[in-house]
Amino acid sequence: MKTPRVELRRRTTGIHDRDATVVFVHPEDLKKLDPGLARVVGAELTERIATFAAARAYKAGVGEAMYFPTHDSHLTILVGLGASKSYSLEFVRRASANALRLLERMRVASAVFVWPTRLPKRASQVELVSAASEGVLLGAYEFDKYQSSAKNKFSTGLVEFAVDKLSATTKKALQESMLICAAVNEARDMQNDNSDDVNPEHLAKQSKSLAAAHKLTYSVLSGKELSARGLNLLHAVGRASQWPPKLIVLEYWGASKKIAPIAMVGKGITFDTGGVNLKPSAGGQLHEMHLDMSGAAIVMAVLKLAAQLKLRVNLIGALAVAENVIDSNSYKPGSIIRAFNGKTVEVANTDAEGRLVLADAMSYLAATHKPSSIIDVATLTGSIMVTFGYHVAGLVSNNDTLARNLTNASQRTDERLWRLPLIDEYRAETHGKRSDLSNLGSNPRYGDAIVAGAFLEQFTAGIPWAHIDIAGTSMRPVRNYYNPAGGTGFGVRLLVDFLKNLPARKSR
Ligand SMILES: [Zn+2]
Repeated sequence: MKTPRVELRRRTTGIHDRDATVVFVHPEDLKKLDPGLARVVGAELTERIATFAAARAYKAGVGEAMYFPTHDSHLTILVGLGASKSYSLEFVRRASANALRLLERMRVASAVFVWPTRLPKRASQVELVSAASEGVLLGAYEFDKYQSSAKNKFSTGLVEFAVDKLSATTKKALQESMLICAAVNEARDMQNDNSDDVNPEHLAKQSKSLAAAHKLTYSVLSGKELSARGLNLLHAVGRASQWPPKLIVLEYWGASKKIAPIAMVGKGITFDTGGVNLKPSAGGQLHEMHLDMSGAAIVMAVLKLAAQLKLRVNLIGALAVAENVIDSNSYKPGSIIRAFNGKTVEVANTDAEGRLVLADAMSYLAATHKPSSIIDVATLTGSIMVTFGYHVAGLVSNNDTLARNLTNASQRTDERLWRLPLIDEYRAETHGKRSDLSNLGSNPRYGDAIVAGAFLEQFTAGIPWAHIDIAGTSMRPVRNYYNPAGGTGFGVRLLVDFLKNLPARKSR
């Protein structure tokens, strides 16, 4: 998979020096072209656009594309932005992704993108450029590592964005966006690859080299070291695997050490058979369970970006890594295990292992690093997919401010979150019969996405915490604009935006 180079150039009259000019239009532009666009495409082409659009019944819906020859081999490509009254940055991302994919299908080596002068609601040119580059760079992604035909696949080499002002802020925003998209695409690669390769050992190696490359602190607890320190839940889940379970901790200190860090915890189940409560084979999702480490991939990407973007935050990333498989040493349904924080947990079902590994990781971080907040990211429940499908992630939180900051970031990035009610009735569902807690409620078919959150809350030591269930959003059966089939990298842009927009922190 190759992504094109993305560059900026000044919006001048008559740019047709690349292989194609991509003109982004609202339906309103088809009758009378936006003055900014008209200036770039020139009078003759402005008229032809109107004629072509009418002849082809072109409606300029979001991402809707149409092309015609301008002169020689040069193409004019119209890509719709939808009605201008609902114009948003998300429409820019989607339209840009479709534009790039059309360029590649048409074997166009280089193109200039031009937009109407009117900006999306409440957005600046800088944000438009970021959104467009996300559409292009995330939209170019395909997991084709194992496809022999990928070698011969055509890739567009250069996309230029024509803008009014080549300001330093715009240039910086594009640079940042390119780093973010590269990290999202790397996370997608890690999600999509074979679980025999992306195993617990591999995640540790990758984290170690990430730390070395970006001056992060790296530490790991592995196998029996986990049980020796009392992280018995994490140890139990992973103990049947040929690769011992691990708690991998990456630290980025970008602000004064007096400021308490933010902790992010990612679920890293490199393959989830379900354990002794084996997942069903027929009609099940066993073949997708290499994606159960998505949370860990997201947290690694966020740590890398914190360092690359020099974010002025302190950030601890913990990966709770294990392979949930079956052998004579597997942990068993009905067993009662003591968690790191001393609570006893009955294993009602070995397939509800995500909440067990996260529980130990969170309470361990709470004790060792005293974070100001904890955010966990996990492909946690089928229940969240029943509720939201592939489109929205569930948010469970014990803190309104944290939940609001995350929701705001979700609105800016369009990595959508919806907060679920954490009320006492769900907390009651986590009580065990023979133990303090059970890893499933009384009827796991009902409300499990929230019950799982209520379970995790028991391991937060009262620290402001938010749980993001990405079981639906982290993987897709088919492409949707800039989100490919398979691993989506959902959460990286959301969490980086959240970190960039944090209110100033007080010292501890
Ligand atoms: Zn499971």
